[in-house]
Amino acid sequence: MTTVAAYAAPAAKAPLERTTIERRAVGTHDILIEIKYAGICHSDIHQAREGWGEAIFPMVPGHEIAGVVTEVGPGVTKYAVGDRVGVGCFVDSCGECAQCAAGQEQFCAQAVGTYNAIGRDGEPTYGGYSTHVVVSERFAVRVPDALSLDVAAPLLCAGITLYSPLKRWQAGPGKKVAILGLGGLGHMGVKIAHALGAEVTVLSQTLRKQEDGLKLGADHFHATSDPKTFEQLAGSLDLIVSTVSAPLDLGAYLGLLKPGGALVNVGAPEEPNQLNMFGLIGGNKILAGSMIGGIAETQEMLDFCAEHGLGAEIELIRADEVNEAYERVLASDVRYRFVIDAATI
Ligand SMILES: [Zn+2]
Ligand SMILES: [Zn+2]
Repeated sequence: MTTVAAYAAPAAKAPLERTTIERRAVGTHDILIEIKYAGICHSDIHQAREGWGEAIFPMVPGHEIAGVVTEVGPGVTKYAVGDRVGVGCFVDSCGECAQCAAGQEQFCAQAVGTYNAIGRDGEPTYGGYSTHVVVSERFAVRVPDALSLDVAAPLLCAGITLYSPLKRWQAGPGKKVAILGLGGLGHMGVKIAHALGAEVTVLSQTLRKQEDGLKLGADHFHATSDPKTFEQLAGSLDLIVSTVSAPLDLGAYLGLLKPGGALVNVGAPEEPNQLNMFGLIGGNKILAGSMIGGIAETQEMLDFCAEHGLGAEIELIRADEVNEAYERVLASDVRYRFVIDAATI
């Protein structure tokens, strides 16, 4: 065991504070990562404040981790000391079930979250707001040299969360794709959908971020607070990916889809949504969900982002600014992802 510095929430809704935690000894197939950067995901806040239900405290959030390998176990074959790596939303799975075999480790019944979870060794897991982490080499991915570690960190959750459904629902040339919500997730959705060759529309509450949206690669930008948007775009889209983590008028958005179009939800509101089924039935529409991606797909996403020069747009902060950053995320006042400089922890 090694004692390392971290930022933790001691209890639900309590401010995060500097503390120390124990990291396990580097096992046969483990790597020790010196964390350089950790992104702040909205789900860190949901969990630290128990918005999604009972959580484990103290909690060290953070599942957008980028760093450098500083030690490898004797059985490690994938990585060497000095390699640039990332860790996303989960750090273990059984490795044997159908989901693991299909590269969908995130759906393994024994998958272990990067934090707010109990590891298969019975110990709680602690996330990326920390100076070091020990993980099995199976759950690390390689950060290509073309991506700086600071802008790569948010890709480990925000990037894969958008890349996976855009690929699965075939965003590409000839497809009209809308990204609903231009925040940490949405801004990566715009970049990736544009790089995939789709015609991209941003649907945002107001036109406040229009200039940014167009710079990020959107072809069109519409305000959802303007009822005209729903008239103009009615029946025109192949795919909408919703990143909104508040209850949504699903019927209104289904109305924007062509027949056979899909509304894919990646946001995770704390309250349930209502839906009138007629909105789905008319036009054979599809309402779907998507949760991050497996390890192989996460690597594919990083390679794609490196090839197309797609890092996240970030605001780099010191660790002692994390509580203020949380408030700003809740106020949608970040362009577009806070990233903690781990050297300040
Ligand atoms: Zn996340
Ligand atoms: Zn499994």
